[in-house]
Amino acid sequence: MSALNLSNVTLDYPDGDGTVTALDSVSLSVDAGEFVSLVGPSGSGKSSLLAVAATLVTPTSGLVVIDGTDAHSLSAKELTTLRRDKVGIIFQQPNLLASLTAAEQLIIGDHLRGKSLRAAAGRAAELLDVVGLADCAGKRPHQLSGGQRQRVNIARALMGSPKVLLVDEPTAALDHERSESIVRLLRQVTDEFQVATVMVTHDTEFVPLTDGVATMRDGVLTAAVPTSPLVPA
Ligand code: ADP
Ligand code: MG
Repeated sequence: MSALNLSNVTLDYPDGDGTVTALDSVSLSVDAGEFVSLVGPSGSGKSSLLAVAATLVTPTSGLVVIDGTDAHSLSAKELTTLRRDKVGIIFQQPNLLASLTAAEQLIIGDHLRGKSLRAAAGRAAELLDVVGLADCAGKRPHQLSGGQRQRVNIARALMGSPKVLLVDEPTAALDHERSESIVRLLRQVTDEFQVATVMVTHDTEFVPLTDGVATMRDGVLTAAVPTSPLVPA
């Protein structure tokens, strides 16, 4: 069973008198521990695909199945719970809260999920260590570099032990070296935590670090994802 399964997903947005089709019968299946790159020109529907996979947007038609559950068969409340428990989302801009330390950024979400502060603090320390920020737990966003802030963002997305990790252009604001280390980190956490990861990326250079590449064009997913890992160039 795939952790993430999109089946014939179509998404129309209203556009003047008509509609714009952001996703045109897209099907995509990602297994636990699989890391897929999503490339394609601006406006081709990449972010729309992530929004639908995150269950933040309901498609016009088609199925979104997360860890075996048909997302849009659920009540709004059940869907919120599914998203909170199964989906981690990482956007280009880390969106950290300016007044909180790195550890606190991680802890509050888990505490809102109903975990004890002590358990959340333990998990936060563990994850900050995984992303290479064990020494930065007490630092606030302005004391961290761009790459470090993105690492906090990644650790935060992993706090709820998601099955699916959705990442939109995580390296767009970073230089080459930091970009590579962020993609390597995503590879590492995909393997270590067996999440199904989809990463939108504008540069194809880091694609060999992932298991496959899917290309969007005008809302159509034009290439199937290879099932076997790509051989690094
Ligand atoms: P990408 O991430 O590949 O740049 P998007 O998914 O953001 O592409 O956009 C795909 C298409 O859907 C574009 O034509 C865009 O203008 C349109 N679109 C995206 N979001 C919305 C929205 N909230 N309302 C209306 N149209 C949208
Ligand atoms: Mg986009």
